[in-house]
Amino acid sequence: MDSQVSSTRNTSIAEPQRNDKPSHECGIFGIFASDTDVARLTFFGLYALQHRGQESAGIAVADGRRIRVHKDMGLVAQVFNEDKLRPLNGHIAIGHTRYSTTGSSRIENAQPFMVESALGPLAVGHNGNLANATVLRQELLRRGVGLMSTSDSEVIVQMLAGGEGQTWEEKLKIFMVRAQGAYCLTVLTRQALYTVRDPWGLHPICLGRLGDNGWIVASESCALSTIGADFIREVEPGEILAITEEGPVTIAKMPAPKTAHCLFEYIYFARPDSMLNNRSLHSIRVAQGRELASESPTDADIVIPVPDSAIPAAIGYAQKSGIPYSEGLIKNRYIGRTFIQPDDRLRKVGIALKFNPLSDNLYGKRVVLVDDSIVRGNTSGPIVQLLRDSGASEVHVRVSSPPIRHPCFLGVDMATYPELIAHRMSVAEICDHLSADSLAYLSLDGLIRAAGQHETGFCRGCFTGNYPVNIELVEKSVFER
Ligand code: AMP
Repeated sequence: MDSQVSSTRNTSIAEPQRNDKPSHECGIFGIFASDTDVARLTFFGLYALQHRGQESAGIAVADGRRIRVHKDMGLVAQVFNEDKLRPLNGHIAIGHTRYSTTGSSRIENAQPFMVESALGPLAVGHNGNLANATVLRQELLRRGVGLMSTSDSEVIVQMLAGGEGQTWEEKLKIFMVRAQGAYCLTVLTRQALYTVRDPWGLHPICLGRLGDNGWIVASESCALSTIGADFIREVEPGEILAITEEGPVTIAKMPAPKTAHCLFEYIYFARPDSMLNNRSLHSIRVAQGRELASESPTDADIVIPVPDSAIPAAIGYAQKSGIPYSEGLIKNRYIGRTFIQPDDRLRKVGIALKFNPLSDNLYGKRVVLVDDSIVRGNTSGPIVQLLRDSGASEVHVRVSSPPIRHPCFLGVDMATYPELIAHRMSVAEICDHLSADSLAYLSLDGLIRAAGQHETGFCRGCFTGNYPVNIELVEKSVFER
């Protein structure tokens, strides 16, 4: 046996469901380092990327002769322990953490995916969503390739394993010509670690250095700091990077019509201690809050964030408006996306499972409540009510992103059209729905000013419905309005 997969679940193959969301979120990590416990470092790298996906985790390790994989459903710390890491010996590893959006948790969608091929074993981790996955999937099935899952990531693995090309480099280039949409890939072979970023640069991936002879790639730079590696640079849009004993080498740069960095990474998704386009996300989000205060001022006594994701924007709003920053809600930091569903009684308590109010800070105050985004609109209304119940005299909601009116087809688990509150309602109607005293969103121009890279192209699909790639090939059911 050249390769080995360990996993503890029974699997079945399910048809894509009508309510399947168009996208999924992931964190990916890769390391090439001799004389290093690469599986352990990958574990800690994934731990730092846990916010990018909480439903499954996996690590694949190559030792020059074979590849071993362990993956399962659950958080990184639930999937791995010393016993699971110990057999994962080698000097090259990739890791993956995934939030599946297909309703139920399915082990067959967990990554890395591993297959045997004529060139030897191959394991792949993918972050993003291919817009033309359905077409590519049909092509594979017509060629007689069997597929185990509903995931576009498996389509990528099979295209690489069985597609044209005599070398991995050729196969990767051919894949990039065919693929439309969002893909950051870590590709593990017996001898090398390849990293690929789609030509639009939709989602982030960066290169770091560990000591004298170790190289890391990770979805976000926060994973580099966590394991003591130094940030070197972002992997460029369209770049294929090969990492071997000789270090990293750019083996191709596929041309892009234009770059289209995902704005939602800037707003919510990536961690504030990560760097995007050479700037800290924390400072970009503070700038969003400052823009929001300039565009939509209000008279109030305190500015509070919806913790944790809106903290930097609330700081910015307070700085620019001169209204004191305060805390009004304390979040249970351990709640995450738990597998244990609340019972009916707890469901009625709803938002209280996640946040407790600080009544002393709120009583009799006119409050500006800053949130980073409103997606379905299920969270903000109960929070406004919680603040009122705690004695706030007025609640003015300020959102540090524009209204999200369209789904994401390119790698963020957003929602479908019927679920998106800003698709169904005007800003005034949403304000009524939330029972807020006022509601204002950051403008798209304000957001792009805060992101600060006028020369850089952004994907604005979720705000405008104009996507950088042709999404007509996406599964039709998700278009239903
Ligand atoms: P809701 O409007 O009820 O869907 O909740 C929106 C809140 O969830 C935002 O304030 C974000 O903090 C958070 N959020 C936004 N997008 C996502 C996402 N893709 N996955 C998980 N949480 C999200």
